[in-house]
Amino acid sequence: MKIYEKAPAKINLMLDVLHKRPDGYHEVEMIMTMVDLADRLEMSALPRDTIIISSQAGYIPLDEKNLAFQAAKLIKERYDVRSGVYIHLDKKIPVAAGLAGGSSDAAATLRGLNRLWELGIPDEELMELGAELGSDVPFCVTGGTALATGRGEKLTPLANPPQCWVVLAKLPINVSTAEIYGRLRSDQIHVHPSAGRMRDAIERGSFAGVCGELGNVLEEVTLRLYPEVAHLKDTMIRLGADGVLMSGSGPTVFGLVSKESKVPRIYNGLRGFCKEVYAVRLLT
Ligand code: ATP
Repeated sequence: MKIYEKAPAKINLMLDVLHKRPDGYHEVEMIMTMVDLADRLEMSALPRDTIIISSQAGYIPLDEKNLAFQAAKLIKERYDVRSGVYIHLDKKIPVAAGLAGGSSDAAATLRGLNRLWELGIPDEELMELGAELGSDVPFCVTGGTALATGRGEKLTPLANPPQCWVVLAKLPINVSTAEIYGRLRSDQIHVHPSAGRMRDAIERGSFAGVCGELGNVLEEVTLRLYPEVAHLKDTMIRLGADGVLMSGSGPTVFGLVSKESKVPRIYNGLRGFCKEVYAVRLLT
């Protein structure tokens, strides 16, 4: 028997850091949603008690460092499953890009193995397991649109934002999320985006409102380290995107576009100097 799961990429419509906590994590407020750019996972049972990961992507670890492996190991141990699993990862989401590709693979693995092994674990429990693997994993278990607080694991579901095109561009630089948070001085943030106002814009179904409230405090750090990301943002605005923001800790920049007729110009303009460009829809 084979189980298939889609693992979509997430974007942050807003990301604010309130302060650093005594446990070393940052207290955040984020509104996240998913886009139709996804990895595909194929899972099949193995008679031997082992976890094997393969992928067509040559640039990700296939051992216990892979988040899908960690998710399989966790669910297997916690529910005392004695059989093994073979997981093939068809990677489409750029790696170390601020799109939570690894977290989404981990969440898809939890969902898939819950089905493959007929464990009947409710979503809330899968999300708790996910929180042990990473702050973004609980959101990726259910997807949709959500406000995330705490270190990102406390979720409040929200309505989906108005449907639009999302053009994503990733420069050939790998950004370490840990390094960006490490360099952030939360008491020196100049402009805090507002979760309340973004939520309000989403609830009103206002595309212009959503574009106007986009904000990510990690841009201050990443754009200083990599000025080419600032240049990419400027280019996307110049090409006509309605709202532009860096996702997560970067370096991926996304542009929201309401009119389909504007998408080819933005896509082709970016492809001129950036190899990884995607034009997708929100997953609503
Ligand atoms: P986030 O926004 O959650 O910080 P990201 O999009 O910046 O995530 P990922 O693509 O998840 O970053 O990759 C971060 C690191 O995790 C990479 O260095 C990669 O080697 C490792 N990794 C482990 N498992 C996976 C996986 N299944 N897919 C991609 N990367 C993985």
